[in-house]
Amino acid sequence: MARSVFFAPLCIRRFFGAKKAYPLFIFFTFFCLAFFFSACSEDSDPEKVVYPRDKELYVMFPNDAVHGDSVEAHLSTGVMMAVHPGGHYTISFQIDSTHEAPKMQLFRFYKHQDVSGYAMSKMETLKPQVSGGRYVFSFVCEENERTPWGLTLVEDDDYYQGKTLDVKFEGSGLYSDTLSLNLISVGLIEPIEGIPSMDSLARYMLQAFRKSYSTFVIDTIYVNYAEKHPTLGKNYPSDRPWYAGTTSEDKTLSDLGSWPVKGVTEALDIVLVHRIDEVNVLGFSGLFASNLVGGEGSTVVVGSHTLSSSGERSLSAEEIVKVAIHEAGHFFGLRHTTSTMADLEGNYDLSILEDGFEDTPFCPELLKSGLYKKGETTGALDYYVPNRLYKMMDLMAFGAEFNPDDCPDAEMFMFPVSSEKSMRKFSKQQLKVLKQNLQLIPH
Ligand SMILES: [Zn+2]
Repeated sequence: MARSVFFAPLCIRRFFGAKKAYPLFIFFTFFCLAFFFSACSEDSDPEKVVYPRDKELYVMFPNDAVHGDSVEAHLSTGVMMAVHPGGHYTISFQIDSTHEAPKMQLFRFYKHQDVSGYAMSKMETLKPQVSGGRYVFSFVCEENERTPWGLTLVEDDDYYQGKTLDVKFEGSGLYSDTLSLNLISVGLIEPIEGIPSMDSLARYMLQAFRKSYSTFVIDTIYVNYAEKHPTLGKNYPSDRPWYAGTTSEDKTLSDLGSWPVKGVTEALDIVLVHRIDEVNVLGFSGLFASNLVGGEGSTVVVGSHTLSSSGERSLSAEEIVKVAIHEAGHFFGLRHTTSTMADLEGNYDLSILEDGFEDTPFCPELLKSGLYKKGETTGALDYYVPNRLYKMMDLMAFGAEFNPDDCPDAEMFMFPVSSEKSMRKFSKQQLKVLKQNLQLIPH
């Protein structure tokens, strides 16, 4: 470019003579400079940023076997996704041959004190690979901590208008497949039948986790007492029962997550309280809470008792442990094998009737049954992701007209109701996803 401007006067004089050469030189120089700068600006700002359209966005979790038709319908105009540092991710969907391939714009969400909710910044723009009739977008999450990202699909500087069917969001990480557990006893825990001490309950829990989470290496289980917490102990007196949901504002007791003692940090914190102060609820966890380093979403909560309409019922050690296994399943990204009405409401998506796995059955009768409990969006777990607590319900919630044990998925750990027969196993596909997700989570 510089060369052509430099040699221009000589060439113009030769062809047009001295009189015409000066205006032609000005014109030619202007043309070259304009071309030069337009080329430069194309390099530095090549595209229009197409931000997510809505303030409330649907969320995708990695390796989730079902995203629902809401994610499918909003993929172009913006969805959020939960990503972890160093994770390798792909997002894919079926090619719509009536449209050109879209580009994907990635966004990072962050807290902004002056903005209610969140603010966002544009990151990279991805072009798809084509594989097996699908567009496949790949990226690596270069963050230091768990951060929500978002995306839009773009064609001609606007939202992509083509169809985005059968969306898949897959992730793989390089973290260890080894996990330790930290059983935290909170407040007064009455003796559990057949179990002489908290240490025996822990040993039983360790065995059961090793057996059920067969794709994990369950290293060890620590036992800790909230009243002995190095800094928060005084908030958790040992002489009175703890009612999650009533005794403190934060029913997840997330300040007890990531026990600050060497070796215990980064274990899965299983908080045992007297009971959850909500009728027929045995335990809860966020879906894909996936946080092993403390703070919001770093605990799963189980009760030694449950509250029924006729009073309190004590749980056996087996039940407590099964509930812990079930809640940990949510923590690592598994949905219920059959959605409850509460799940449908909490997902804001009526199309997610089951977990999407081919090797887990589901139970339409359960949906039609009386298992109706209003869903709940907690601001406590995550300020931007509508991360909802998944609850395990007690069989006592049912009348005689419906027996959950008749459901073909009653034997799966992720069946939403606890009963005698229920909760004996994970399927192969569930175990695969559990391991993939564990390896995405820094620990
Ligand atoms: Zn559940």
